[in-house]
Amino acid sequence: MDMNRDCGCESARARMGILIDRELTELECGDVRAHCESCESCQAEIVVLEKLTDRFRAACAEPAPDSLRMSILDSLKNQNGIVDA
Ligand SMILES: [Zn+2]
Repeated sequence: MDMNRDCGCESARARMGILIDRELTELECGDVRAHCESCESCQAEIVVLEKLTDRFRAACAEPAPDSLRMSILDSLKNQNGIVDA
């Protein structure tokens, strides 16, 4: 067996997060999708991951305003007495 194309549960799951982030090549996506189609537990896993990612994206779509970011940074600097790491 070609180890690079091995797509058991372990390698499918390891690649799921990357697949969700759309950073896999078409070929690799195909491997993971093919495995999920034939493997019930990985199929369930990827459905959950996709839902989590959707929520995460929705939350990230509203970035914290700069003023809030700056005040957090300032309070961190004051706490640690670190101006520049
Ligand atoms: Zn599996």
